[in-house]
Amino acid sequence: MTRVLVVEDEPQIVRALVINLKARKYEVDAAPDGATALELAAARHPDVVVLDLGLPDMDGVEVIKGLRGWTRVPILVLSARHSSDEKVEALDAGADDYVTKPFGMDELLARLRAAVRRAEPTGSPEDDVMVETDEFTVDLAAKKVHRQGRDVRLTPTEWHLLEVLVRNTGRLVSQRQLLQEVWGPSYGTETNYLRVYMAQLRRKLEADPSHPKHFITEPGMGYRFER
Ligand code: CA
Repeated sequence: MTRVLVVEDEPQIVRALVINLKARKYEVDAAPDGATALELAAARHPDVVVLDLGLPDMDGVEVIKGLRGWTRVPILVLSARHSSDEKVEALDAGADDYVTKPFGMDELLARLRAAVRRAEPTGSPEDDVMVETDEFTVDLAAKKVHRQGRDVRLTPTEWHLLEVLVRNTGRLVSQRQLLQEVWGPSYGTETNYLRVYMAQLRRKLEADPSHPKHFITEPGMGYRFER
């Protein structure tokens, strides 16, 4: 059973989410503020977090940072504000996706399923692969990246993007293919997602993120991973 942590201070939205999620056999915990959210996440180990950014006690981005200190649980952000800066900030802090309020329940449930699916281990035999560059090593079996003797912490979305690129080493992977593989079949034009996440991968893995050697942009087309 998939356990969802709903972090939201508006009772009507909480009620709607709880009813809809329980009807689809999710287990649901609800937190009305950031402090409760962080406690519940540690105590209950949810499989996915639905997080409102406007909370009474702290900014939702602080909750994302708190969670990312110890868990890669997928985080789906609810944003009432229309500022793309805020969404990028949330993605940058480690959120995996966002839905803008007011949202349709069907859309939210689809995003939730996609976020959970991305976080699941695939377990295929080809997972047993190590890819080494001069800067870092990708262990596809253990889903780990080492750089200069240390583990690099990646969010599930960053990892999935890296994995798709590494499995296609040397080949151009189109923007649409990346979006559909990593975010889901209904995606294809959200190239801003790719720019945000590629910047994060480069920042974490490239010696000189502004002159990448391994994560190459093919302008207007897609991205390519080179050893
Ligand atoms: Ca709120």
